[in-house]
Amino acid sequence: MQENARVAVVTGGSRGIGRAIAIQLARDGHRVAFCHQSEDGPATRVAEEIRSLGAQVYNRRCDVADFDAVKSFLAAVEEHLGPISVLVNNAGIVRDKPLVLMDYDAWKAVIDVNLNGTFHFCRASILDFMKRKTRCIVNIASVAGVYGNPAQTNYCASKAGIIGFTRALAKEVGGYGIRVNAVAPGFIATDMTESLPADVVSEAVKRVALKRMGTVQDVADIVSFLASDRASYITGQVFQVDGGIAL
Ligand code: NDP
Repeated sequence: MQENARVAVVTGGSRGIGRAIAIQLARDGHRVAFCHQSEDGPATRVAEEIRSLGAQVYNRRCDVADFDAVKSFLAAVEEHLGPISVLVNNAGIVRDKPLVLMDYDAWKAVIDVNLNGTFHFCRASILDFMKRKTRCIVNIASVAGVYGNPAQTNYCASKAGIIGFTRALAKEVGGYGIRVNAVAPGFIATDMTESLPADVVSEAVKRVALKRMGTVQDVADIVSFLASDRASYITGQVFQVDGGIAL
């Protein structure tokens, strides 16, 4: 089973968008590895769902902000599933506050997970990707990193950083056949957005041309495409999956 399948790694695969991406990549025929940070229950359920699709899966806790932990996680993935072909940097957090009230810990936590986490996974994989060629990286940014949002200077800086990182790396490693793209979701229904007050949600939806929040599958579908050979001439791009939020 799956002997010729490619191995895909998804960070933050236990919930929300990462969960949908991990399951979609399994449906696409990949062996899937994913990490999470806190509760084990949701991760165990995702792993069971992937196994029920007939795909091989490897998952465990790994804090994307900890470079040593990332290196050890990736080594374990290779040992269990084989060489990695697809890397999806999805793990992300928010710690919203107006800048005037933002303490350094909230700034640092968001940069450490969102931006440094992406650096850690790419840095730990890139030499191997350059040796093996035809690999692909998809970084999950956000429209917040394109347009900015009040009370999210930390988050917007991290996501704008991911976009710059994606474009730079795409130019750096394109000659090795490695594609690097970013997906910038808009307003997607997950735990991250569930805690928002109802009036904030309805105001945000009014700004969306399609007049609804996005689903996790809306994001998983484009990641699935970018990870496939159908996207073999696409690199260095940022795809907004936002229902037309900025039209
Ligand atoms: P969720 O909060 O629903 O899920 C976050 C996932 O990331 C969980 O699996 C969580 O694991 C994991 N995670 C968080 N911190 C770490 C860490 N330090 N190390 C490893 N894993 C970690 O988020 P969403 O699904 O909503 O968001 C996913 C990505 O999409 C994020 O990068 C987010 O910024 C981006 N995005 C989301 C939007 C939205 O509207 N939802 C809009 C634009 C972008 P655990 O539960 O174990 O902590």
